[in-house]
Amino acid sequence: MEKLVTTKQELVERVRSAEGSIGLVMTMGALHEGHRRLVDAARAECETVVVSIYVNPLQFAPGEDFDAYPRDLEKDLAMLEDVDIVFAPSDEEMYGRAPLVTINPGEVATRYEGRTRPTHFAGVLQVVAKVLNLVRPDRAYFGRKDAQQLALVTTMVADLDMGVEIVGVPIVRDTDGLALSSRNAYLSPEERTAALALVRALTSAREAAAGGPEAAQKALTESLEAADGVDVDYATIVDAGTFLGVSSNARSGLAIVAARVGATRLIDNMEVSFG
Ligand code: AMP
Repeated sequence: MEKLVTTKQELVERVRSAEGSIGLVMTMGALHEGHRRLVDAARAECETVVVSIYVNPLQFAPGEDFDAYPRDLEKDLAMLEDVDIVFAPSDEEMYGRAPLVTINPGEVATRYEGRTRPTHFAGVLQVVAKVLNLVRPDRAYFGRKDAQQLALVTTMVADLDMGVEIVGVPIVRDTDGLALSSRNAYLSPEERTAALALVRALTSAREAAAGGPEAAQKALTESLEAADGVDVDYATIVDAGTFLGVSSNARSGLAIVAARVGATRLIDNMEVSFG
């Protein structure tokens, strides 16, 4: 059967007639090994695996990289041979018109990524809710690379009783430690070297974390201050579930960082254990 599906109606028909458990992986395409890890996790646990490929205009603000975002459906399909259904709709098919009823992602979406990108998470949750409603998977797989997104999707599913298990998949990194991202394609060789400051800072936070949250924060800040070619947006330690600050008696937290390297905005994070 044809793997590629471009209409919602065909997607719904195909998933409703599928037998056994359904796993969903949502992507914006330009697939790399990070996306593949999500597909592998779904493939290992579910009988039917659905991957969506959609560059969602609602989660980009004017002036962001919606137009420049890399798109190569043929190449993506070649990485998805073991997937049952690939859903790649047009904007017209996905939205028809601008939505009148929207999801309010709440206060957590105004922090960190949401401070720099105020409309981002509302756009993300709108499309995630739509695709979850179309596919009605048993499990949906999200990368820990986008940790705030994972926290918000998990919260939305709980608060709206959406009845799907959200599975967080560990970050896949290049051999030098840089977290894989479709946006790494924008980096010049010099910028790519500079970008390693993010993982270096997170690693030093993790190493210092035995001394507690403040020691981890200090190491994170100092490492980034010493780095060249990175314009830091935020670098801090939060609770991984809530994205609120860590309490003084917390046993673990998440070091998160966002920075501009040249014109490219990168994010990364690492779990840290205290004392
Ligand atoms: P994107 O195509 O960037 O929207 O990402 C689609 C999904 O892949 C999201 O759940 C991301 O968190 C996940 N993802 C992207 N890069 C990585 C990575 N390096 N490691 C793990 N998951 C990733």
